Amino acid sequence: MATAAVKEEPIEEVDFETRFIMLCQASPEGITDNVIQKELPQCDTKQRMTIVNRLLSMGKIDLLKSGSKLLYRLKDPDSARQVKGGDNQEKLVYQIIKDAGNKGIWIRDIRFKCNLLLTQVNKILKNLETKKLIKAVKSVAASKKKVYMLYNLEPDRSVTGGAWYSDQDFESEFVEVLNQQCFKYLEQRAAAAREAKSDPIAQRNASFTPLEDVWKYISDLGISKVQLSKEDIETILNTLIYDGKVERSLVAGQATASGDGYVKLYRSVQPLIPTTGLMRMPCGACPVFDQCYEGGAVSPTTCVYMKEWLEI
Ligand code: SF4
Repeated sequence: MATAAVKEEPIEEVDFETRFIMLCQASPEGITDNVIQKELPQCDTKQRMTIVNRLLSMGKIDLLKSGSKLLYRLKDPDSARQVKGGDNQEKLVYQIIKDAGNKGIWIRDIRFKCNLLLTQVNKILKNLETKKLIKAVKSVAASKKKVYMLYNLEPDRSVTGGAWYSDQDFESEFVEVLNQQCFKYLEQRAAAAREAKSDPIAQRNASFTPLEDVWKYISDLGISKVQLSKEDIETILNTLIYDGKVERSLVAGQATASGDGYVKLYRSVQPLIPTTGLMRMPCGACPVFDQCYEGGAVSPTTCVYMKEWLEI
């Protein structure tokens, strides 16, 4: 008996194109050529290249570099609208900067991702800055490092250094004032507790102050030009804990936005023993203490921390 041959319908390129776009939609971070080969095994190299070229020329996808591989990523219609009038390269750079969010992205990484020449990237960045679509922000991580982010974004604390930095400089005096004020407030609360209660246990319990109260006290003092968050005050209180001047207690409380469900309480304490001389000099907290010797890679003679400390 003759077997009936099954006639295979040729899959049109346009079908591949639709499936290609669907694959891109499923992976907004982009897909590699390997993924396309795996998902569309019937689509040969020539057809893939035709589709890629067509989508690139229509401005529907971006071609990015990830390591040694190329990534195809669906264009964000929003960024295309924002950079209206700009060419494809400008749209691509804008999209890369947008993806970096408020942590920003360094020019070297932009170049690496878009695979353009430095002169081209510089020109595009200038254009986007002039159009007020992006801005350059100096990072506290490195004095000469600028990161780029969308114009309307508030830079992340890791970029600005938060409240403790002003124009990349660490505000040591401001931190010191806050340190003193937080400690002063906790001491006042402890003194008030001592006066109000006769029982030492009740005195101790009453001297604990919630983080919220310390934060409110510092905010009401108006000594900061920037709005301090509770986390900022917690950082200051932590330094007091490390100095042995304050202790912290956690009590179960209402679940907070951070989800830990604890209330942090602080109280001033008298250190049981005074800080030793060694702990007040750089070597006391030096991470390379055991590798430090005369003639070594680090030595007391060449140590910058020691030099600074001796000049104080
Ligand atoms: S001299 Fe400098 S490098 Fe050596 S232990 Fe002291 S702080 Fe560290």
